[in-house]
Amino acid sequence: MQQGLLIVISGPSGVGKNTIISNLLDKLPNLRYSISATTRNPRPHEVDGQHYYFISEELFLKKIEAMEFLEWAKVYKDYYGTPKDQILKLLEQGIDVILDVDVQGALQIKKAYPEALLIFLAPPSIAELKNRLINRHTEDSSQIETRLRYIETEFQNVPSYDYFVINQEINLTCSKIEGIILAEKCRVSRQEANFLNKIFGNDNNS
Ligand code: 5GP
Repeated sequence: MQQGLLIVISGPSGVGKNTIISNLLDKLPNLRYSISATTRNPRPHEVDGQHYYFISEELFLKKIEAMEFLEWAKVYKDYYGTPKDQILKLLEQGIDVILDVDVQGALQIKKAYPEALLIFLAPPSIAELKNRLINRHTEDSSQIETRLRYIETEFQNVPSYDYFVINQEINLTCSKIEGIILAEKCRVSRQEANFLNKIFGNDNNS
C-alpha cells in the first residue's frame, strides 16, 4: 500500500489556513487534519479537541520530555506541538494527513520526514493581511503587531518549502493546493515500489 502523504501548511496568521484546510477536508476523502496541542487560551468559538488540545504549560513540557510530539515550537509566546502517535498510524494506513504548523515546526518535520510536502500560503499583500487580522477580531492590537513582526522570519524560510501559493481567492487557492496534492501522489518516487504490481499484478517477473 502507498504511504499516506504528510502535508504541511504554513503561512502568516490571518492568511486563511483554517478556511483552506477545512475546504480541502471536505473535498478530499482520504485526508485527515492533525489537531495540535497548545498552551494558548482558546478563542471564544474554539472547541477543545476540535481546533486544538488546550493544555497547560506544565503538561506541554512533560509531553516534550516524553517525546510525544512529531515537532513543537514556541510561536509568539505560546507552545504549539503536533502529537505523534495518530499521524504515523494514519500514514501507514495510506491516509493523507494535513498539518497547520509554523515555519520552525515545518523545518523540523522536513528534517525528520523528508518525504513531507511543505506548502507556504502567502497573503496578496501585507496591507491585506493586516486588514484580515483586524477584521476577524480575535486578537488585540498588540497581538496583531506581534503576529505581523513574525512575518519576516516566516518569509525568510520560504526557500525551504516545496510550494508557494498566494491566497488571492479561496476557491482558486483550494484548487491549486488540491492539484499540488494530487500531482505529488503520482510522483514515481512516492510509488516506485508499487507501480509495477499495480499494473502487472504477479506477472511482473517476466
Ligand atoms: P494560532 O494561535 O493563530 O491558532 O496559531 C499561531 C501559529 O501557530 C500559526 O502560525 C500556526 O500555523 C502555528 N501552529 C499551530 N499549530 C502548531 C503546531 O502544532 N506546531 C507548530 N510548530 N506551530 C503550530
